[in-house]
This record gives sequence, structure tokens and C-alpha cells, in this order.
Amino acid sequence: MVPKVVFGQGSFDQLSSILNPQRKDKAPFIFLVDDVFKENKIFVDRINLRFNDKLIFISADEEPKTSQVDQIVKEIKEEFTYKPSGIVGVGGGTILDLTKAVAIMLTNKGSASDYQGWDLVKTKAVYHVGVPTISGTGAEVSRTTVLTGPVRKLGINSDFTPFDQVILDPNLTIGVPKNQWFYTGMDCFIHCVESLNGTFLNAFSQSYGEKAYDLCMEIFLEDENLSEEESRGKLMMASWHGGMSIAYSQVGVAHAMSYGLSYVLGTKHGIGNCIVFDHLEEFYPKDVALFKKMVDKFNITIPKGLCSNLTENQINTMIDIALSLVPLWENALGDNWETIMTRDKLKQLYLKM
Ligand code: NAD
Ligand code: ZN
Repeated sequence: MVPKVVFGQGSFDQLSSILNPQRKDKAPFIFLVDDVFKENKIFVDRINLRFNDKLIFISADEEPKTSQVDQIVKEIKEEFTYKPSGIVGVGGGTILDLTKAVAIMLTNKGSASDYQGWDLVKTKAVYHVGVPTISGTGAEVSRTTVLTGPVRKLGINSDFTPFDQVILDPNLTIGVPKNQWFYTGMDCFIHCVESLNGTFLNAFSQSYGEKAYDLCMEIFLEDENLSEEESRGKLMMASWHGGMSIAYSQVGVAHAMSYGLSYVLGTKHGIGNCIVFDHLEEFYPKDVALFKKMVDKFNITIPKGLCSNLTENQINTMIDIALSLVPLWENALGDNWETIMTRDKLKQLYLKM
């Protein structure tokens, strides 16, 4: 679990005072910041670089790759004699995952792809801080960093992955475009649905999952009087609780299939989950109906026809990637999942999307 967290509007301004006690002589802090903030001088000034600190702007247009992590780590090692005092990630799930992976790879040998899996990391990461600027993925609280590698899209799941400190400042999410707000917000809703309807469910996951689910219902469907300010704070906490819920259970059908889409077509996580979830009435009837209402309420466009022109090869890769995520299927459909989710069944589902 994340051992330290601050929450509140404007709490981002505590960053310097939080980092200072962690500063080691001559060792910089490296800030990985979503390049959507590049032109925002006021925002950048609030980061308050000191000594030889370095700020690197990173595009979130593509989800993080193991090769990208390796490249950033190489550049940091080449530029600085001393191991950084810490890595600070400011952005959405893409930048937060990249930050966690870079922190791990600064102290572990080889390539990030060597550590995709469960508990393969041997050495503690450098101190790392997460500052989310969009809410929903739960990447700020989770024990994984999802990376696309040469052969698979899979997380580095380890005790050294979670941030040492998180700063939750709902004001940082003010500029998020509406569609993206919805797609990433639905990632949280889908985390809850998949956790609460899964066979891995336990009291720990349920308690967090139910809270996050209720918050999503308030934000996306039920509360007509919620101000934008309240909504931002609530979604930030929903994301946190949703992430906590899957930490002790698993995600399910939508995530497994969305990973396949993402691997073959580069479809991003939030929107990919929405594209898939829209067609999962059979597995999550009540919640897919609610999801469709939310889509209507906010007048969101869910892309269609993505898989209609795929080659047989591409469809097969998609199916391979989805089926390789065994724990997700076990959670969603139980021990006999292979008899329910056959290759044929998956193909039929993908062709609808
Ligand atoms: P993202 O980080 O990809 O960002 C989406 C878009 O929103 C980008 O264009 C970004 O520049 C923009 N953006 C972010 N903050 C903004 C702001 N304040 N104002 C304006 N624009 C802003 O989106 P995401 O949905 O948060 O993250 C998706 C990633 O998270 C995927 O790579 C996925 O694999 C990962 N993920 C990780 C976990 C985990 O537990 N580690 C869980 C779920 C998803
Ligand atoms: Zn997700």
C-alpha cells in the first residue's frame, strides 16, 4: 500500500516541502510530467526545480512501453553520476506507470521487460512520488505498472511498485477534456464492477469496491446537484478506492479483452474498456445497462467498427493476448472459464466492436 498521501485542493503546493527531507546531496529529483502541461508556465513554476533537478516532459499519446522505460533510465544514468533522490510523476495513468517503472529500473539490472509478471523485482526502487492529474485508473495507488513489452502487455506487480508518496489535488484535473474524463472515469467504474462480480471477491476488496461504485453512481448518474468541484474530489477518491479494491482481487472480462485491443490496435486503456464493456451485457447485465445510461447522459461517443477490417492474424493475436490473462478469466468466470470463453466466443465478441 502507499504509505503516505495528502489530499486537498491546492495540496500540490506541498510538493517541495514533501521532497526536501528526501533530498540526498548532489542527487537530483527527476520530474516526469505529462507534456499537456508544457505550455502552462504557472503550473510548471509550481514544481519548483532546485539544484540539478530535471524536468522531462512526456507525451501520453501512447501507453508506456518497456523500451521507453529502458531509454529514460539510460538517459538518467548517463547524465547524472549520482542515483536520483527520487522520481516524481505528474500526469495520468500513463505517466504514473512510467514513473513507477523508471523508479524500479534505476535500482534493478536489465530491461523492464524482465520484470513483467508477479514479484520478480528484487531490489527496492528509488523513492517515487505520484501526482495524478486525471482520475480513474487507480494507478496512483496500485501495486502494478502496466507496460507493453516485446511479447506482452503486462504489469510489473511487486511490493516495490507502489508510490512512497501520493499527492491528491483535485484541482489538477480541471483541464481534462470531457470525453477523456468519462473514459478514464469509467475505468474506475469497470474496476468496481469486475471486482464486485468476480469470484476472487473478499471483504477487503468489497469494502473499497462498494465505496468506489457508489461514488461513480453519484458522479455519473444520480446526483444532479453535484458541483464540478465536488465531482472532481469524489472521482479522485473513487479512483483511489477502485484501485484498492482490485489490489486484493482482480479485474475481469472487459480488461482482458481491452488488453487485446490495445496490443493490436494501440487503443488506449480507458476508451478500450468502454468499447468492450458496451458489449458485455451477457456478463455484467445490470452494470452494462447503467453504463449505457451514463454514456447517454453525458453524450459520449463510443467508437464502433474497430475490428471489422482486421486480418485473421490480427484477430488471432488479440485473442491470444486476451486469453493469456488467466487470473482475469478465473476471477470473472471461475475455474471452468475455458469452457465458457472459447476462441470462437471471443472472436464473435471482438467482431461486434
Ligand atoms: P492518460 O494518462 O493516458 O491520459 C489521457 C489523456 O489525458 C492524455 O492525452 C493526457 O495528456 C490527458 N491529460 C491528463 N491530465 C490532464 C489534465 N489535467 N488536463 C488535460 N489533459 C490531461 O490516461 P489514463 O486513463 O489516466 O491512463 C491510462 C493508462 O493507465 C494506461 O497506460 C493503462 O495501462 C494505465 N493503467 C494503469 C493501472 C495501474 O494500476 N497501474 C490501472 C489502470 C490503467
Ligand atoms: Zn483499468
